[in-house]
Amino acid sequence: NLSDRLQGIFSGLRGKGRLTEDDINSAMREVRMAMLEADVNFKVVKQFVARTKERCLDAEVLDSLSPTQNVIKIVTDELTELLGRTDSKLVLSSRIPNVIMLVGLQGSGKTTAAAKLAYRLKAEGHSPLLAACDVYRPAAADQLETLGNEIGVRVFRGDGKDPVAIAEGGIKDAIANLRDVVIVDTAGRLHVDEQMMEEAQAIKRAVKPDQILMVVDAMTGQDVVNVAAAFAERVDFDGVIMSKMDGDARGGGALSIREVTGKPIKFISAGEKPDSLEEFHPDRMARRILGMGDMLSLIESAVKVQQEEEEKAETERLMKSQLNLNDFITMNRQIRKMGGVSKLIAALPGGEKALGQGQVDEGALDRMEVIINSMTKAEREKPELLNGSRRARIAAGAGVHVSEVNQLMKKFNETKKMMKKMMPAVEDMGNKKGKK
Ligand code: GDP
Ligand code: MG
Repeated sequence: NLSDRLQGIFSGLRGKGRLTEDDINSAMREVRMAMLEADVNFKVVKQFVARTKERCLDAEVLDSLSPTQNVIKIVTDELTELLGRTDSKLVLSSRIPNVIMLVGLQGSGKTTAAAKLAYRLKAEGHSPLLAACDVYRPAAADQLETLGNEIGVRVFRGDGKDPVAIAEGGIKDAIANLRDVVIVDTAGRLHVDEQMMEEAQAIKRAVKPDQILMVVDAMTGQDVVNVAAAFAERVDFDGVIMSKMDGDARGGGALSIREVTGKPIKFISAGEKPDSLEEFHPDRMARRILGMGDMLSLIESAVKVQQEEEEKAETERLMKSQLNLNDFITMNRQIRKMGGVSKLIAALPGGEKALGQGQVDEGALDRMEVIINSMTKAEREKPELLNGSRRARIAAGAGVHVSEVNQLMKKFNETKKMMKKMMPAVEDMGNKKGKK
């Protein structure tokens, strides 16, 4: 599905310290393919890719320390924008009873959504009523009645013949029975047709709904855009309920609807149970589409790579610049991170043997750090300042014998000499990396 595809695309960028224009271009080509395959409308895809690409190709993104993360953030942002940016809550007007009308194709999930909405409103302290205006499908009213009984919500069936009369009757019934919201469940057709539109318009004129919600089956492919556009033109609606998000819907429809109709998605429904209606949060949906679970681990590894690069750069700087005692502490800490001196030595040729001879004193690293911590800033940066009296003061401060300070300085000078010898090799490594 789309999530998997997009995740795959971004793992392709994984581990790249820098991104080139080519990287972005090829990633965006794949994003385009993935979205088209997920049935996102092609015009929507085109605009989305153009917007996203332009933002990603910005020099600031490409040259940033963590370009992959920035690209992912941009794609998530744009996806959120596509889905509607702001959360859209169900807002009732002050009119009592409030009237919510549901429209949509047959089988899109209107009747189920009507019951789910009623369940939700009831949980929020309202007393809804369901009006069964689908008079064509033989068992439509029975279906609504069954659902109503399940959730303890009154269902108005009227004469079961005239949809407009049933809707009007539902409002009267609601007033008589102190119900504050009427949910009008209407009939759909398998395809957009004149009769369906006219009937929806007639009900709309008669009961003047406070809001009309269109129910859209998430599994509908490309066609969903045409259907939504037709409803938008003929009856108009205020928002969308995306149903069947629990199936293996490719979900492209959800991505297109907002962009094409300008109408917000208000709810997503993911299951047949009455409590499976969720408010729609575009940012969460965008993260879901991008498979944020895995995306997070991708971002984590991108960060790790970046940190490694930083450490490498620091080591190079260290070797090139004059070694000072602050660097000595940094090196100590790195050795400890790598598992201590023993592990480091063990990794060297002949190291295991040396270890066997018991020449390693792990505690030496700690004592070294204590001694360096007793030095002033100037002394650490310019070790040549360390004359006899300074060494005595440092030894006293660190609680060690002055011979240990001398030993440390001897080691320090040896290291410095050794690094000077290693320098050509390090520079060589650097050059090779640069050419790659
Ligand atoms: P209507 O013709 O628009 O009223 O559609 P229905 O509400 O009768 O739903 C058609 C079918 O889809 C029924 O079998 C429902 O149980 C099923 N359905 C509706 N919404 C969902 C959903 O969110 N998830 C799943 N899995 N099935 C749903
Ligand atoms: Mg129905």
